[in-house]
Amino acid sequence: MSKPLLKVEQLTKHYPLATGRLKKTGPVVRAVEDVSFSVAAGETLCIVGESGCGKSTIARLLMRILEPTGGRVLLNGTDIAGLNAQELRTWRRQMQMVFQDPYASLNPRLSAKQIITEPVENFERLSRKQRHALAADLLRKVGMSPEVMHRLPSEFSGGQRQRLGIARALALQPSLIIADEAVSALDVSVQAQILNLLLDLQREMGIAFVFISHDLKVVQHIGHHVAVMYLGRIVELAPCEALFAKPVHPYTEALIAAVPVPDPTRVRLEAPLDGEVPSPIDPPKGCTFHPRCPLAVERCRVDLPPLVPMADGRVVACHVRAPAANIHAFPFVPANSC
Ligand code: ADP
Ligand code: MG
Repeated sequence: MSKPLLKVEQLTKHYPLATGRLKKTGPVVRAVEDVSFSVAAGETLCIVGESGCGKSTIARLLMRILEPTGGRVLLNGTDIAGLNAQELRTWRRQMQMVFQDPYASLNPRLSAKQIITEPVENFERLSRKQRHALAADLLRKVGMSPEVMHRLPSEFSGGQRQRLGIARALALQPSLIIADEAVSALDVSVQAQILNLLLDLQREMGIAFVFISHDLKVVQHIGHHVAVMYLGRIVELAPCEALFAKPVHPYTEALIAAVPVPDPTRVRLEAPLDGEVPSPIDPPKGCTFHPRCPLAVERCRVDLPPLVPMADGRVVACHVRAPAANIHAFPFVPANSC
């Protein structure tokens, strides 16, 4: 079996709320707790969950914008925490990010050409001719005409701006792109175009994606595997088709039930979620989902359920739906860690 491109082991991030001397001992926001997953070359892992469950924190930990409180991120088997300056430069070429708001993330004073060629120019000097050729090539890759390269971001629509954000991410020919809510700000029809673009790029260039979204219907179209998060933890990680065909964790089931069904003849699952997500500063004991869970039993209020492997390759953390009768080997690295 080949090594995974990206491997995340027991990643944890606590944000201290206090400053100064109390920083180490004061209250913390438990944004990410003990998260493990892996991504193979050329595959898409989606991370879904309600707002505040820790998705963007994971993205920032992967990009090393934030230091983890615990756990490791390995790219091609190398722990990114241990890289020296030179290795960090090489590593940064391999991993790029696309953000939610393409307008805020594109410098309004730079032309499209300057924006999309900038990542390469951080590494090497380009002649005018090379810069022009690179910009034209990148624009074509994202389905835009090279003629627009002199325009400013304000002269593009939201969808076109997101194409520019993707072109910029492609400039260094990365093996992995982290897309954090990359289509969430776009109209539904434009969302579909951008998702198709990402699928095409993946097919042509073998790029792997960590695709982060609060929106399950977006994920359904592009995920190979889906990790469902609740209050900083993965509660279910499954092959995409299996997850939508048969969600096992009650939280996954409720999320899927909440997705609007375009076909009115299709029967909907009955499980809209009650209540609010609890505070990550003082999460509930036991299974953190138990206060909102229709299936909760006494054990759920006491013990944190481990991620238990199921026969179809998924892992699920639920005492009721995935009882851990014979499992003692936690932490478990999920089955997609080919
Ligand atoms: P998501 O992207 O899933 O909406 P985030 O990763 O942005 O979630 O946030 C996870 C939790 O961490 C939230 O409760 C959020 O309020 C908190 N959080 C995020 N950034 C910080 C920070 N810099 N300081 C303190 N708490 C933070
Ligand atoms: Mg976010």
